[in-house]
Amino acid sequence: MLPIPLHHVWEYTDVDRAFWQRHLEDWVPKRIFDVHTHVNEPRFRLVERTEEMRRQYWVNELSEPIGAADAQRCYETVFPGREFSCLAFGHPSLDYDIEASNASLRVECARRGWSHLIVSRPDWPAERLEEELKASGALGVKPYYSLIPGQDPSTRDKYLEASIFQFLPHQQLEVLDQRAACIVLHVPKADRLGHPENIAEVKQIRRQYPRARLIIAHLGRCYTLPHAEEALPQLADEDGLYFDNSAVLNPEVHRLALRTLGPSRILYGTDNPIFYMRGRRQWKGKTYINRTSYPFYFNKDREPPEVEAEYTLYMYEALRALRSACESLSLGSGEIEAIFHGNAERLLGLQE
Ligand SMILES: [Zn+2]
Repeated sequence: MLPIPLHHVWEYTDVDRAFWQRHLEDWVPKRIFDVHTHVNEPRFRLVERTEEMRRQYWVNELSEPIGAADAQRCYETVFPGREFSCLAFGHPSLDYDIEASNASLRVECARRGWSHLIVSRPDWPAERLEEELKASGALGVKPYYSLIPGQDPSTRDKYLEASIFQFLPHQQLEVLDQRAACIVLHVPKADRLGHPENIAEVKQIRRQYPRARLIIAHLGRCYTLPHAEEALPQLADEDGLYFDNSAVLNPEVHRLALRTLGPSRILYGTDNPIFYMRGRRQWKGKTYINRTSYPFYFNKDREPPEVEAEYTLYMYEALRALRSACESLSLGSGEIEAIFHGNAERLLGLQE
């Protein structure tokens, strides 16, 4: 069959169809809830990407916003025959009209039976957050350190070493606690979740704001086993703290997370549209390399053509890794259903 365009430069090909049939069709539950997906109408971009910006920073070349209609079409393609819903939020970047993007998600998600979060600005006082949450019908917030005012356009990492409270301030946490709202938290710092300040601050949020429904994104950005080993055991006893497993391709990390946290605290997520990328990830100690077949400017270190020809979508590689972890721990179908939708529906209060 002809390839189907997915998003940006990515397509859905016979390699992907075969991969789904071989590794996923008999395992992925009939119902899927993606708790981490970015949906943002491209018209809300304020700063047009120039060729120069694309070449400056590799993420600029990869990240193109996806509107709701396209997101829906892509999900129908990559999850054939599945009942699908998600928790969507915009692009947490000052390059977008955040307020307009938040407002559009209210309409677009309601239309599709999806849920959404608003991207929150760190400088909003409590009343403003309260108003935004009420007006948008959102379940909570997606804060991010690159929304701290005073960014440097050449990097999204100027505030990488920030404290969580610099972009998720106490006055906002009070509101979120009162409303029992949801937070999808991308933790800061090059050392990832295991940095002592992150661990201490996450524990503090749990203690001080226990009603807020806190979901740590990307298993705390633990994409390698040593990072996961450092971080996850320290939060094993924090019942009521949840994690999404989006963007994690390493089966060993999935396995450790399932063993340490248990399958009832892990929620399936994709981090799409970025994970429509084709390729594979390789790990070495605490570092990894993203292999991909598209001739991006940043993509200098390519694998042989016959290897690239076998690349599938990153989100499929993530699913295969999750499957292998679940199988190595002999998880039952009830536990797998919980990861794919039950935990999210319970935590977000979406059960019928
Ligand atoms: Zn994300």
